[in-house]
Amino acid sequence: MISAIEDVRRRLREGSLPEALLAPETGTVAGLTRAQLRERSAGVAGGLARLGVRQGDRVGLYAANSADWILAYLGGQRLGAVMVPFNPAYRAHEVEHILSDSDPVAVIADTERRALVEPLRPVVALEELPVDEAPRPVRLEPESPALIIYTSGTTGRPKGALLDHGNLLAQARGAIEAWRWTAADHLVHALPLFHLHGLGMGLHGSLLTGAEMTLISFDPVAVVAALEGGATMFFGVPAMYQRLCDQLEQHPAELGRVRLFVSGSAPLPPELFSRCRRLLGQPPLERYGITEGGIVVSNPYAGPRRPGRVGHALPGVEVRLGEQDEVQLKGGQVFGGYWRDPKATEEAFVDGWFKTGDIGELDADGSLAIRGRLKELIISGGFNVYPREVELVLEAHPGVAEVAVVGLPSESWGEEVTAFVVPARERPTESELIGFAQERLAKFKCPRSVRFVEALPRNAMGKVQRSQLR
Ligand code: AMP
Repeated sequence: MISAIEDVRRRLREGSLPEALLAPETGTVAGLTRAQLRERSAGVAGGLARLGVRQGDRVGLYAANSADWILAYLGGQRLGAVMVPFNPAYRAHEVEHILSDSDPVAVIADTERRALVEPLRPVVALEELPVDEAPRPVRLEPESPALIIYTSGTTGRPKGALLDHGNLLAQARGAIEAWRWTAADHLVHALPLFHLHGLGMGLHGSLLTGAEMTLISFDPVAVVAALEGGATMFFGVPAMYQRLCDQLEQHPAELGRVRLFVSGSAPLPPELFSRCRRLLGQPPLERYGITEGGIVVSNPYAGPRRPGRVGHALPGVEVRLGEQDEVQLKGGQVFGGYWRDPKATEEAFVDGWFKTGDIGELDADGSLAIRGRLKELIISGGFNVYPREVELVLEAHPGVAEVAVVGLPSESWGEEVTAFVVPARERPTESELIGFAQERLAKFKCPRSVRFVEALPRNAMGKVQRSQLR
């Protein structure tokens, strides 16, 4: 007998990306009508086929966000190519690794980035995509590989997570159902398209539902203007919400038509949650995701959104805590393994469950909270210290704008809890912050030193790069 969850999983994974993404008739995406999307992506597919790209070949995509990026991506998908988008900020060293690992037959790159790729691989100019007669449709199954996304690789070298058509459909459909996304929606999209947050949620979700999608580069003024123009949804990372709130504090705006603000990819501090609720006029909805599974856990659309918690599993996903409280996932959303890396794949799974590397905590209602990465766990004097727990305490101090807690090597303690603090306008002293922590936490968890910095090093998704602090 098939369990209910197996049934949901199968339903969410049905079909293939291009057929599902290009079917709806409504809403424009990055200024393109559905007819334009279909016609022009078919032309791109034809152009790539003429260059010799075949089903299953990898095609790199190395460019800043644009409508052309979307056409190149869809063109490749229609051919059954495995698209390999990567961060346009990457430099030679990172690009070389991704290209030698994914082994693409061609790389689509924009003007600014062509020179870097030219010595390495055949390059297709994004601004002058070759177009040709649409090729014969290829046969794509939910199990056909669709996309390789390289993990940000804060520890070790980036690994390529291979996602199939079924994974990507399940990821988008799970979120669509949970967030009640329909063709009547209009998303303001300001996230990088090379990451699953912007691609798997933002772009695929808009295409699948037939909703409107406006693509902009992030800037708080531009976001507010786009939202005032009648949008209904915005997806962002906490660092974006911080700046959006700063903007709204100075210039309040009427955002009454927006029905949903989603935050994720990094923890949303409870103070920022409250600030958002006040300035946006509604509580933001925090969700949790990972490249290998897309968005898998979310606070409820209807029902209380709890600061500091990421919520419940989306349709088709199961979550459990394994050894050391590691968050483990199972479901149609979850990838099958890393590209040409059976060893890493084997290490990433236990009994069919994907090990996320995040430390979790489940409450009596089954709502999940993320306490940090296992690799970032600090072991000080033999005791485990969860950096997020210490950060949450320090974030509540009015003199702290942002904080990251890391373990620095120490002879007497093994590791020493250290807080890197971006001070607020009223700058606190080191002893004041340590005292504040000591009133609220056991002594072994409290920072032994505080370093004041102007900004925390963050990646394109707003995640703090702790290895750089160490
Ligand atoms: P990525 O694979 O780049 O999407 O990064 C995934 C990681 O981001 C997760 O393993 C978490 O450590 C972190 N992450 C994503 N969403 C959240 C969230 N809402 N709260 C805390 N951490 C998050």
